[in-house]
Amino acid sequence: MCGVVGVHAPGRDPRDLARAALVALQHRGQESAGIATLLGRQVRIESDAGLVSHALSARAEQPGGRWAIGHTRYSTSGSTGAANAQPFPVVHPRLGPAALAYNGNAVNAAAVRRDLERRGARFVTDVDTEVLVRLLERADGDDWPTVLAAAFAGIAGAYSCLLLTATGVLATRDPHGFRPLCLGRLPGDGWVVASESCALGPIGARLVREVAPGETVELDQAGCRTVHWAPAEPSSLCMFELVYFARPDSLLSGCEVGGARMRMGEELAREAPAPADCVSGVPDSGVMAAVAYAASMDLPYVPALVRNPHLGRTFLHPEPSSREQQVRMKLSVLPRSLRGRRVVLLDDSLVRGTTAQVAVRLLREAGATEVHVRIASPAVTHPCFMGVDIATRRELVAAGQPVSAVAAEIGADSLAYLSLAGLRRAAMPATADGLCSACFDGRYPVRVDGNGTLERVLDADRFRAAS
Ligand code: 5GP
Ligand code: MG
Repeated sequence: MCGVVGVHAPGRDPRDLARAALVALQHRGQESAGIATLLGRQVRIESDAGLVSHALSARAEQPGGRWAIGHTRYSTSGSTGAANAQPFPVVHPRLGPAALAYNGNAVNAAAVRRDLERRGARFVTDVDTEVLVRLLERADGDDWPTVLAAAFAGIAGAYSCLLLTATGVLATRDPHGFRPLCLGRLPGDGWVVASESCALGPIGARLVREVAPGETVELDQAGCRTVHWAPAEPSSLCMFELVYFARPDSLLSGCEVGGARMRMGEELAREAPAPADCVSGVPDSGVMAAVAYAASMDLPYVPALVRNPHLGRTFLHPEPSSREQQVRMKLSVLPRSLRGRRVVLLDDSLVRGTTAQVAVRLLREAGATEVHVRIASPAVTHPCFMGVDIATRRELVAAGQPVSAVAAEIGADSLAYLSLAGLRRAAMPATADGLCSACFDGRYPVRVDGNGTLERVLDADRFRAAS
């Protein structure tokens, strides 16, 4: 998962605007940040590991540039660190230099890479963005829209991608529209394209519309226009964007994300009421649904859990021994908040189960007599190949065991999930456009076999069966 932004803003510094927008997209990736600008015919890229505030100085060393693209990274493929920070440089033999910023995950990246290597391409990183770079450099065409379309025709999976060229910014979204991408208008003549609409307000832009699945738009001197349509596929915006990933103040497919999260809490209260005296949410992402659940149940909401706001949004390291320690660094509890009370503990999702397990223990330490865990999304039973960091089935606590066993594993008195139907109702009107629910029901909108990915899933299942 990542955040991307592109700015074409005559008369303003696009680098400043891109940096400000990246700060608003920081939740989409905290491993590295970067900006590419065009100076004359030269592409200049600044990037580093870490948060936007660390990786990109508030004031550019050189002013100028006429348009810019930016990126915040949360790795789902390849290793982390400054070397993998985007944007990546692209040099096309006919069209010259450009830069690429990519959010998504190419399901067939490994196969495409092997094919490119057979044809002599050299790779310097292990991220699938570089596969796209090499494809772009080898694609035929007299203009960038043609080259972009030719390169992406060979890619399956999720991509919301920006290309900085000598004439402007191209923005393309895969035909399923897995990852979000929207267009905004700056006062005057400027245009912005960004992963989420929450990036528009801070730079004074207003939302115009989303880039449609399969659409490529170009922002340049002439304004903003569609330059290509890929063959249509069923729309499949990622449900996890609505559950966890996107910021609550963003609009995705016409759906206000925070509003959807509150409705998830209301649906959950209808489907799975718990015998309790109060409700507490796991901050930050569980709180909206928890407050709505409490209101629907006519129970008091107790903000018993506190999250250290200075720790980023990273999943825990794999060593089980240190996992609890890591959650305890992130979460703590008001020590006397729950004495003698039966509590509903609500979180947005349950992936590996570590957060819930530690949170249950914290609530008991604060005096809770019973802890009933409620999850505002269905059980995650399948890995994601479209950009969310949900790796193999082996790691998914809900895969291959009944709810009662999961409840025992996390130490809860009871456990219930929101149904997929309930989540679909909560996600209206985005549901009407089409959503990807693969991590909840295994219905992948793209083929995920033939690339080692399915083998990885099956291997993991065998591991689970054997262990
Ligand atoms: P678990 O601890 O069960 O592995 O993960 C669930 C918790 O992690 C929830 O609190 C949820 O908000 C958060 N979460 C869910 N998906 C993601 C993700 O893709 N990345 C990160 N960093 N956290 C996630
Ligand atoms: Mg959370």
